[in-house]
Amino acid sequence: MAIRIIYAGMCHSDVHQLHGDWGNSTYPMVPGHEIFGVVTAVGSDVTKFAVGQRVGVGCMVDSCRSCANCAQNLEQYCKGCVFTYNYKYADTGEITFGGYSDSVVTDEHFVCSVPDSIPDDRAAPLLCAGITVYSPLERFGILPDATGKRVGVAGLGGLGHMAVKIAKAAGADVVVLSRTDSKRARAEELGASIMAYGDDEALNAAAGTFDIILDTVSAEHDAVKFVPLLKAERSIVMLGVPPTPQSVGPQIIFNGTNFAGSLIGGMRQTQAMLDFCGEHGVVPDVEVIPASKANVAIKRLTDGDVPLQGGRFVIDVQNTLVDGDWQMEA
Ligand code: NAP
Ligand code: ZN
Ligand code: ZN
Repeated sequence: MAIRIIYAGMCHSDVHQLHGDWGNSTYPMVPGHEIFGVVTAVGSDVTKFAVGQRVGVGCMVDSCRSCANCAQNLEQYCKGCVFTYNYKYADTGEITFGGYSDSVVTDEHFVCSVPDSIPDDRAAPLLCAGITVYSPLERFGILPDATGKRVGVAGLGGLGHMAVKIAKAAGADVVVLSRTDSKRARAEELGASIMAYGDDEALNAAAGTFDIILDTVSAEHDAVKFVPLLKAERSIVMLGVPPTPQSVGPQIIFNGTNFAGSLIGGMRQTQAMLDFCGEHGVVPDVEVIPASKANVAIKRLTDGDVPLQGGRFVIDVQNTLVDGDWQMEA
């Protein structure tokens, strides 16, 4: 089916891949895997969608559909998973191009329906940031009811602010772990408290009180430092993908901590996340920018200067990329 792109979210993974941080970048590259748009054409085998419908596409556009992971609705871990951009087909050398663009064509299996209660300009970031934090919260038993549970969220950016909102909607007590306490007002506005993880005294005072920590930090940092915050036999889930790996020490043994990883979420879970957000009124906070400001926004994300002190840049594709007469700003 063909989709006209209306808004595209800017994920920090776009920054990593544009900069070649992961050593797998193919240029030219069109980033963007947080896509909101409207269906413009459907093939004869499409059953779930109709022309005009509001839809989202995330990080994947295909998978093998027959392996054990696909059978369990974990398409993101399929060895044949085709990512929305910067993916190179081994046989043809063809590469995929992403959402900073006017249209996308994909199989309906990799398209989600966007609930009416989610406004057009807020939908796109759910397709990566939303599902990436929802998936581990569900896998580790924080969703659907987090009453009495304390959730730590390291890094208050695109993923981080969605983690706060989703965990709060489930009833959790949420603590943001940030480089400094400069985002205190922002964390409180989101209904969370904040702890600067450079403040050892604060970390010691909160030791053994967290049920889970989601680590969304995009740059090098010491995640093992968060381990004593957890109750015994709980999990720290690594979501951020800094270019340098973590080194894990014996601290995890002495707290029985699971050091886990998680990649976005499968298609069934992505639809469930959108439905959850639609029902609970959970939407990202966004700064909508014209396409001409894309490089300015990438530079800000590179420098750790996220919009709204915890939110997402979203490109107004329809009005400024497709129809607009524009020049890229440096
Ligand atoms: P973002 O909006 O840019 O936020 C990243 C946060 O990391 C910042 O808000 C900041 O939090 C912290 N940070 C930034 N620069 C830092 C530095 N130099 N040192 C220490 N902390 C720094 O990024 P995002 O879009 O949320 O993505 C976060 C990470 O998750 C990226 O690495 C991205 O590639 C990855 N990701 C993974 C998946 C997955 O499936 N696992 C999906 C999407 C994204 P504070 O200011 O609060 O300290
Ligand atoms: Zn992403
Ligand atoms: Zn598969």
